[in-house]
Amino acid sequence: MLQYQTVPVTPFAQNCSIVWCSSTLKAAVIDPGGELDKLLKVVEQKGLQLEQIWLTHAHIDHAGGTAALAEQLKLPIIGPHTGDQFWIDRLAEQSRMFNFPESKPFTPTRWLNDGDTVQIGECTLQVRHCPGHTPGHVVFYSEDAKRAFVGDVLFAGSIGRTDFPGGDHDTLIDSIRQRLWPMGNDTVFIPGHGPESNFGEERRRNPYVRDLQF
Ligand SMILES: [Zn+2]
Ligand SMILES: [Zn+2]
Repeated sequence: MLQYQTVPVTPFAQNCSIVWCSSTLKAAVIDPGGELDKLLKVVEQKGLQLEQIWLTHAHIDHAGGTAALAEQLKLPIIGPHTGDQFWIDRLAEQSRMFNFPESKPFTPTRWLNDGDTVQIGECTLQVRHCPGHTPGHVVFYSEDAKRAFVGDVLFAGSIGRTDFPGGDHDTLIDSIRQRLWPMGNDTVFIPGHGPESNFGEERRRNPYVRDLQF
C-alpha cells in the first residue's frame, strides 16, 4: 500500500511528498525543491529507504535540490518529460532570480511520457503528461490509493500559472479535463502548493475548471 507524507519546502512552501511502499519501506521523494535536511529527517524518522527522485516539473521550487540529493545519495532521477529540458538548463538562473541556494542542472536518469509507470517497492503509479504550466509537466497517480501528485497543474480552488515561458492556458485546461478528471471524482490530489482536495470538489467549485452541477 502506498503511503506518503507531504513536507513543505522552500520560501514558496512547495509540497514535497515522500512516498513509500508500506510493506517494503522503500521510498521515493517527489519534487525535492530544497531543504534536503528536513526531507532526510522524515526519511530517517520513518525508517524508510530512499531509492528514487521523481519530478513533476523543473521549476526551482520543485527541482532545486535534485542535483545535490542525487549526488549525495546516488539516487536515480525519474522525470519530468523532455519538454522541461529548458527549465532544467536554467536552474542556476532560476535560483539566482528567486534568491534560492545555488542550484545545478542535471540529466534525468529516465525521462517520462504519458502512459508510463513508476514503481517503488510493491507500489506502481501511473504517469500522465499534463502540459500547460510547463511543457514537460507530469503527474503521478496511484489508482489503488486514489491519490494523485499533481505539482502545479491544479490547486484547491485554482490552477497553475501559465504566464511563464512555455506556459499555455488552454493546454493546461485540456490537461486537467482530459488527464485528471478520468482519475475519478473521489481521487484526492496533492498539489504543489496549499491544501489537498479531490477532483469532484474542483469539478463543482473551482472557477477555472468546474463542470458539474451542485
Ligand atoms: Zn511550477
Ligand atoms: Zn510550484
